[in-house]
Amino acid sequence: MQGKGDFTVKDLYEKMGVRPQVYDFGKKIEQGLEERFKKLDETAEYNQLKVLSAMQKNRVDEACFYPSTGYGYNDQGRDVLEQVYADTFHTEAALVRPQIACGTHALAVALFGNLRPGDELLSPVGKPYDTLEEVIGIRPQKGSLAEYGITYRQVDLREDGTFDYPAIEQALTPKTRLVTIQRSKGYQTRPSFSVAQIGELIAFIKKRKPDVICMVDNCYGEFVDVIEPSDAGADLLVGSLIKNPGGGLAPIGGYVAGKKELVEQAAYRMTSPGLGKEVGASLGVKQAFYQGFFLAPMVVKGALKGAIFAAGVYEALGFPVLPDSKEPRQDIIQSITLGSPEKIVAFCQGIQAAAPVDSYVSPEPWDMPGYDSPVIMAAGAFVSGSSIELSADGPIRPPYAVYFQGGLTWEHAKFGILMSLEKLAQAGLVKL
Ligand SMILES: *Cc1c(COP(=O)(O)O)cnc(C)c1O
Repeated sequence: MQGKGDFTVKDLYEKMGVRPQVYDFGKKIEQGLEERFKKLDETAEYNQLKVLSAMQKNRVDEACFYPSTGYGYNDQGRDVLEQVYADTFHTEAALVRPQIACGTHALAVALFGNLRPGDELLSPVGKPYDTLEEVIGIRPQKGSLAEYGITYRQVDLREDGTFDYPAIEQALTPKTRLVTIQRSKGYQTRPSFSVAQIGELIAFIKKRKPDVICMVDNCYGEFVDVIEPSDAGADLLVGSLIKNPGGGLAPIGGYVAGKKELVEQAAYRMTSPGLGKEVGASLGVKQAFYQGFFLAPMVVKGALKGAIFAAGVYEALGFPVLPDSKEPRQDIIQSITLGSPEKIVAFCQGIQAAAPVDSYVSPEPWDMPGYDSPVIMAAGAFVSGSSIELSADGPIRPPYAVYFQGGLTWEHAKFGILMSLEKLAQAGLVKL
């Protein structure tokens, strides 16, 4: 494409550090992905209309954006936003708050709100996300569910990544009150689950124990499909606003959506028994929450294109990628097994060099608290720690896999991936 003064986009890439041979390599991969990208456009179009229709139905107007302070009584814009989430996810109610600090907090609020001493929590999909281990008490921690006398049972996935139905059936006891199902693999090596698979699992469980609460950790999954786990029988849906549904604009927050009574219980835990959803000032974040949710289907589409492009580029170079560039996607995370510490570092330095913020810094591996090996992280985000923005991280240990996710626009994700390839090529770690 011709640009101003006879400069092409390829020239501009070169000026910004991506050499023509790297650009051409990417171009070839991109051309092979046209059909896939078209499907993503269709999903995004559907989800865009879904969100828009929920906003129109709830008569969102300028007054919804006015900040509230103090107790936040009668914050109508906050209540309308929660109904917009509920209508989009087809649930009875939702809690969408800046007081929810992150995804882990949202999950903790849903769990503590709905479990009582003597109850048992079941994960039929293996080990949950790292941070939940301390919430549950798998790793002992002050204030965990275990300290409150709530027990935990886990059924691991079978070797091929499928559900172990006979073991799940056995693990359902009269004490089982809540079943937690994590949709995304997070940073594990198991597959992520489709909404249809989750629906099957929930149906199996409900058939045997109709009164059990089925909660889905929906982190990284929102808007990847045209349906959500709440469309497949989940009673509770939980996620983070600095991932998919915040659309890159929400500066903080989390959500819990689902059956009215269960969301209410979560709200009593989030604020206080008796106060629940009635308090909690929204300060000045509501416009960002609304606008981010409005943009989220498009942002998720860009992130998915980036993930698929990364898979395409690196599988063409012979690296194991998960998922591969052809498989259906259930979340926005891409893992690439690079096979050596140097390659992880070069990859992450490329992602960092492509960022709109902090592009001049160079990430290095460091001993992060809570990890048993050094970790390198690349992120140059507008919202600190946001992983819907282009980011990558890799623990420096075999098999030396890097996890890549996000990108507020496809164009930026593409640039980041080409920049990572450039760094690897420059260091002589890959041959194009
Ligand atoms: C990110 C994530 C969480 C926790 O979210 P934080 O915002 O990091 O606390 C929980 N579960 C899954 C699957 C996630 O991806």
